[in-house]
Amino acid sequence: MPGFGRAVNSGRSRLALAGGSEDRKDMLMKVGLGVLMAAVAVAIFMGVATSSNKSGPRGNIRFECQECGHKFGLSVQEVSSWKYKRGRTDYDPPQYECPECKKMAALRLETCPACEAEYVPSKAKKNAKGHTVCPHCNVDIMQYRRDNK
Ligand SMILES: [Zn+2]
Ligand SMILES: [Zn+2]
Repeated sequence: MPGFGRAVNSGRSRLALAGGSEDRKDMLMKVGLGVLMAAVAVAIFMGVATSSNKSGPRGNIRFECQECGHKFGLSVQEVSSWKYKRGRTDYDPPQYECPECKKMAALRLETCPACEAEYVPSKAKKNAKGHTVCPHCNVDIMQYRRDNK
C-alpha cells in the first residue's frame, strides 16, 4: 500500500519538524545560558584583574591617602585632570585628592623592586649614599635596580 506509506512518512516528517523546533528552543536556551555564564566568567575575571591591580603597579599610577590610608590607582589621563595641591617646596611632592575622604592628602606610591611592596618615595628614608631605602625590606632601591638590570 504505497498511499499509506506516504501518509505515515509525511506524519513522521511533521513530527520531526515539530521536534526540531523544540530542539531549537532548547538550544536557544542553552546558548542564552552559555552567554550568561560567559558574562559572569568575564565579570569574575575583570574583578580578579582589578583586584590584582590593587597590589601591583600594572601600568596604573598608585596613590596612598596619608589621612585615611586609602590606596587607589589612576590612569595617566586621570592623573592629568585629577585635583591636587602643590607641595610647599620643590622637594615636596604634590598631594592629590583622595576619592575616599576628599582630602588633598594622597601621595604617589612606588613599588619596591626587591619585595614588591608599595611605599611612598617622599616619606621613605635615604641611606648614606642618598638613595631611597625601601621601608619594608631596607633595600637600597637604586642599587637594587642597577644590580638587577
Ligand atoms: Zn583619604
Ligand atoms: Zn622592599
